[in-house]
Amino acid sequence: MNYDYIVVGHGLAGAILGYTLRKQGQRVLVIDEPKQNSASRVAAGLVNPVAGKRFAKSWLVDTLLPFADAFYDELEAHFQQPLFFHKPIYKVFSTIEEQNNWMAKSAGDSWSEYIGATYTQSTGMETVQDQYGGILIKQGGYLLVSHTLDLLTQELLEAGLLLPERFDVAQLQLTEQGVSYKGITAGHLVFCEGWQAVHNPYFQWLPLQPTKGEVLEVHTENFNPECIYNKAVYVVPVGEGRFKIGATYNWRQADEEPTPEGEAELTERFEQITTQPYQVKNHWAGIRPAVRDRRPLIGRHPAHAQLSVFNGMGSKGVLMAPFLADMFAKALAGKAEVLPDVQISRYYSLYYDYLKHHNQES
Ligand SMILES: Cc1cc2nc3c(=O)[nH]c(=O)nc-3n(C[C@H](O)[C@H](O)[C@H](O)COP(=O)(O)OP(=O)(O)OC[C@H]3O[C@@H](n4cnc5c(N)ncnc54)[C@H](O)[C@@H]3O)c2cc1C
Repeated sequence: MNYDYIVVGHGLAGAILGYTLRKQGQRVLVIDEPKQNSASRVAAGLVNPVAGKRFAKSWLVDTLLPFADAFYDELEAHFQQPLFFHKPIYKVFSTIEEQNNWMAKSAGDSWSEYIGATYTQSTGMETVQDQYGGILIKQGGYLLVSHTLDLLTQELLEAGLLLPERFDVAQLQLTEQGVSYKGITAGHLVFCEGWQAVHNPYFQWLPLQPTKGEVLEVHTENFNPECIYNKAVYVVPVGEGRFKIGATYNWRQADEEPTPEGEAELTERFEQITTQPYQVKNHWAGIRPAVRDRRPLIGRHPAHAQLSVFNGMGSKGVLMAPFLADMFAKALAGKAEVLPDVQISRYYSLYYDYLKHHNQES
């Protein structure tokens, strides 16, 4: 069996890259060990064009957002069902200082396309604690990530293009034509393993910083599901009175287990948004493939041109993956360049250090 590409990993990164490569006419085989608590499976799927407490426009958002919108529209048409839900995000100010910061910041910036309204006092919504007001962010929304992955997985399985098993890197052979693996050949192999790339002997020199996150699903009546809320946590309406509350960030724990501390942190923060009664229905944990400089990791191996990596989506895979997959698929075909900000060549010096260290040990 011969393919143009083998893609290892079918989380959000591998699924979107695989779909994009197929759309460009490539023959693609995906190898993925199914994992119910992968980062992609537990993610709330949120897209927010305005990042964090510093009120900065999210990196490259003017390019990434229209591309992501068009990509998910196309996926919805392909599967004939809604997958991405456009919702405004009500970013509630926690303190008067936060309100002041925003007022100072917004005066000099080109925000208008992302900001629907600024409230300097409570909106008067009975269920929301917003005494200092907040801003209404436009062009936000969320993707049903797990369901989208189910659809893409099913399609690949039916076409015989997915091996649902762990990729055993010890069985990979590098050849003049590309790669060979258990009798399967391909011109190129792309690793999309998420945080597990830290175990990959070809790419473990990359500065991935696996970052654990926990998410709750709660049920509450009388909470307006027409927008996403953000005040220390995100509250994402997912239908039928259910909301996803997330997420925690933990660099020190490398496991994927939900913890009582994670639940306490999330419920405490949720209670800063609303006084409504609620019940916790679900609790998940997963590990994000975050990167030291908070930019993805994309590109060919410095010594083995038939291997590359598409990873490091951190906490923004839904927003970033569609544009970056398109860019990378074109780059692999020699029709585009990978943006320097995300190109792994920025870390090649780590590879040479790693080689030196490795050779000294052996
Ligand atoms: C709690 C939490 C909340 C989040 N919320 C959001 C959000 O609201 N919005 C957003 O955009 N992002 C969010 N993220 C981040 C988002 O989940 C990631 O950016 C994205 O899902 C990463 O996708 P990935 O495909 O790189 O990795 P993963 O999702 O980890 O997928 C990797 C896949 O590769 C497989 N794999 C790995 N190694 C091998 C191997 N050797 N052989 C076979 N298969 C292998 C794994 O089993 C898995 O299926 C969140 C993450 C967490 C943890």
